[in-house]
Amino acid sequence: MKETTMSLLDPKEVSIDCPKCKRKNNRTIGSLKENPVVNCACGNTITVDVRYLVRELTKVDKKLGQIRKDFERAGE
Ligand SMILES: [Zn+2]
Repeated sequence: MKETTMSLLDPKEVSIDCPKCKRKNNRTIGSLKENPVVNCACGNTITVDVRYLVRELTKVDKKLGQIRKDFERAGE
C-alpha cells in the first residue's frame, strides 16, 4: 500500500527551495525518485530525501485521502 501511495504522488510537482539562493526548483515526485539530486541554477546541488518528502506530502495533502478512496473503489 505504501508503494501505491508513492506512485500516486509521482505526477505531483513540488518546489525544492535552494538553501543558498532561495530559488524554487520545480520537480515532480516521479523525477525525484529517479534522480534525487537537484542542480540549482546558482551551482548548488540539493539532494532530496524523497521518502521524507512523500511522508510530509501525505501528511499535508488532505486530497490524497480522497484519491486513495477513489483508487480503492476503482479496484473493486
Ligand atoms: Zn540556488
